[in-house]
Amino acid sequence: MSVASPVRIDRLPALADVAEVRAFTRRLRRDDTPLALVPTMGALHAGHRSLIEAARRHGGAVLVSIFVNPTQFGPGDDLERYPRRLAQDMDICREAGASAVFAPDAATFYAPDHSTWVSEDRLSLPLEGAVRPGHFRGVLTVVLKLLAATDPDIVVFGQKDAQQAILIRRMARDLNLRTAVLIAPTVRDADGLALSSRNAYLTAGQRRQALALPRALEQCTERLRRGETSPATIRDAGHQILAAEPALAIDYLEVVDLDTLEVPVRVEEPVLIAAAVRIGDVRLIDNEVWPGGALVQAGGMRGSS
Ligand code: AMP
Repeated sequence: MSVASPVRIDRLPALADVAEVRAFTRRLRRDDTPLALVPTMGALHAGHRSLIEAARRHGGAVLVSIFVNPTQFGPGDDLERYPRRLAQDMDICREAGASAVFAPDAATFYAPDHSTWVSEDRLSLPLEGAVRPGHFRGVLTVVLKLLAATDPDIVVFGQKDAQQAILIRRMARDLNLRTAVLIAPTVRDADGLALSSRNAYLTAGQRRQALALPRALEQCTERLRRGETSPATIRDAGHQILAAEPALAIDYLEVVDLDTLEVPVRVEEPVLIAAAVRIGDVRLIDNEVWPGGALVQAGGMRGSS
């Protein structure tokens, strides 16, 4: 069977609903072509591009989903103003070597009386989960919906959203999903700021102020490098840098165990240093993993352990 009437923009298929994406994946399966899925909310940048490239390195077809998922936004969040630019995103996907884009409509991807949710009861509670109640329920639900619609061999997420990536690995393990969860490193601008679709909201001045975030994380990893093992001491060193930038409001900066996301008594196992700040009405998150690469390497093609 051929792809069901995809809208083609310069031959990159844009699949608009689950029926179209299923027709696309049926054709791949018939040819024994493996599939990698790269879930995104669009407004693509070099960070997303690196995920597409990581997916390509595993061979087979790469499907990029572009969907601003309403269920992961809270009442005060930026759902309405979240940047949407599908035509430009299609160009980036094509240049990065994607095979197709799945861009469903929110009104049809969720049934009007949708009432089934995926929630996780441990790793979703601290950090982002504490500040954004319900956020991860929306994330896990949409990711499971995307996996069910596309049934990929691999799904690729960015370390930029480390807690999200860790949670998805947990969901894949706990629910016996067959898809391997790959985590790709964070891509940063030359000044150290992690690329984010939300950086576009920052004024030039705010952007300079935002650099305290990667600086604080770097200070924490520097302490670890020098042998510091007290999470509180490491955390305080990061906090001091954030607090020195009065324009920043700190949501959190924490040093947590990479597996449990709990604050350890002493740093003996790999840790995640995760932080979230607000500058005006822009919220930025970032993280470092110690030792570097621990999250990206763990799992990989072996997936969801
Ligand atoms: P988003 O479109 O922001 O929901 O992100 C889609 C995917 O891209 C997620 O897996 C993110 O972790 C990943 N991502 C976002 N920013 C970056 C970045 N700077 N480097 C690497 N991956 C990223």
